[in-house]
Amino acid sequence: MFGMSFVDLVLLLIPITGAILGATWAGRLGRNRFGWGVFGLFIPISVVILLFLRPAGEVAGRWKRCPACMELINWNANRCKYCQTSF
Ligand SMILES: [Zn+2]
Repeated sequence: MFGMSFVDLVLLLIPITGAILGATWAGRLGRNRFGWGVFGLFIPISVVILLFLRPAGEVAGRWKRCPACMELINWNANRCKYCQTSF
């Protein structure tokens, strides 16, 4: 359709998907959404790096700091997985 082949469509969708995934995952980790979105647009494979990165800081509803050891833990946790402190 419109002179676009299936390959053209895939080549268009990969950067768009990279940008969306990069921005979404970066947001979940408290990292720069715009920067990772642009990175994902031009180098789609770069979004895989985000899977191995730790959160950059507290993100309401996702990550909070343990009051005892200051490690970032799941927002809903009531016991720290690093130092076992309950709160
Ligand atoms: Zn802790």
